Amino acid sequence: MCRHFAYLGPVRPLSELLLAPPHSLYRQSWAPRIQAHGTVNADGFGLGWYPQGDEDAPARYRRAGAIWADPDLPDLARTLRSGAVLAAVRSATPGTSPEASAAAPFRAGRWLFSHNGAVDAWEHLPADAAAPADPTTTATTPRSAAPDAAALLALEARSDSALLWVLVQAQLATGASPGDALTAVTLQVAAVRPGARLNLLLTDGRSIAAVRWGDTLWYRADGEQVLVASEPFEPAEPDNPGGWTEVPDHALLLADRTGVTVTPLPPASPPAP
Ligand code: GLN
Repeated sequence: MCRHFAYLGPVRPLSELLLAPPHSLYRQSWAPRIQAHGTVNADGFGLGWYPQGDEDAPARYRRAGAIWADPDLPDLARTLRSGAVLAAVRSATPGTSPEASAAAPFRAGRWLFSHNGAVDAWEHLPADAAAPADPTTTATTPRSAAPDAAALLALEARSDSALLWVLVQAQLATGASPGDALTAVTLQVAAVRPGARLNLLLTDGRSIAAVRWGDTLWYRADGEQVLVASEPFEPAEPDNPGGWTEVPDHALLLADRTGVTVTPLPPASPPAP
């Protein structure tokens, strides 16, 4: 499993988010504390940030391999400054590409996206998700946004996450809000892959949408800034884990710099027999 986070708030050096906290994403790459699946996240990493003065065009730095093995990363993180960041460390799911192109964040226009989880038999997902729903049920699971085989061939990387990003983009292209896009894809995929783990994270630099579905997710907000992360950056104390709040499983989180809302997601409708 991977670990990821998104931040919106005052402009600050990336190192303050990525390296400095006691349980930063950097440290989570070799010592995650509450990761539900996997042990280390050494199969790639990526930073995405919205440059000051060019906030509609997020920049990325992605590499295959472990984040701690990149000798230039501390200098980059020390000197890059931003008020909107999405970053991830990766533990590759078997059968997916090891390339940097499979490391989050994925990007399109002003959007950055990350997936923590796994979808079994993801190569067959487009066909399965496109199968007609059972007409004897009242299932409302959206299935229409499944990409065809051509979209599968055009994936940026051979991975479940790259495919999910295509599905999310298809929803956004219909005018769906970020929260509706993540909800639709989560329910669409979970309907045909009940074992799928679908922790999704999406930002445009102004707001964050996130789904917890099968792994961990936390947030910390103080009215001026918000952090949404797989796990807290501070040590957990019995009654106050550094101001962090856990998001319940199967929930949608929406946030901007001024606040956070968390809404339960409905169960995914079972697929047609
Ligand atoms: N399945 C995704 C990948 O292979 C995410 C992996 C993860 O969450 N560990 O990159």
